[in-house]
Amino acid sequence: MEWNRSETLALAKHNCAHCHGAGLRFSRKGAVAPCNCVLRTIFRICWDRFVRCVTQERHLSRVSVEPHVGRARPATWGRKDEEYIADFEIIARRTLDDFEHRLFRYHFLLGASWKLCAKKLEIDRGNFFHAVYRIEQKLGRAFRETEPYPLFPLDEYFHGPSRIGPPRMPPKSETFIRPAALEFPVPVGKTA
Ligand SMILES: [Zn+2]
Repeated sequence: MEWNRSETLALAKHNCAHCHGAGLRFSRKGAVAPCNCVLRTIFRICWDRFVRCVTQERHLSRVSVEPHVGRARPATWGRKDEEYIADFEIIARRTLDDFEHRLFRYHFLLGASWKLCAKKLEIDRGNFFHAVYRIEQKLGRAFRETEPYPLFPLDEYFHGPSRIGPPRMPPKSETFIRPAALEFPVPVGKTA
């Protein structure tokens, strides 16, 4: 995917000292990258949804029909909330290094305060918050850039197009012209 202004503008902090609300940063070589304020916003949105999914009553998690475009399977049934919880945790495990993942688990998943985390991980307050920022930025990027099904935007994740794959096109042999072998022979004495 390519980051562009129309995507980042609504997610950027308007008073961000780095991007001034545009949500993009440009390197000297002209490369475009999302600003950290955008990545943290994406993380926060995904995190809020994760908390909602794990704290809601089990019976509220709905089974939903997931439509598919292809001919092979018209639709499947799925529990989107449970899928989302699993995807969220898998991406976090894949994206963070060991130290970051421990902090993520203690602070975000188990709800430990910064003091408890700092003691357990033997770091000071400053390092704790630096690490939290780094985790939010790394995961915000991963939630958006994961292919082929990013967690963000949430709308597309929960209500978007098929997750099974692109529409199935008929193979060439299935289509169109009747093979020569199936032509009916012209009866003797008659013209076609
Ligand atoms: Zn910014």
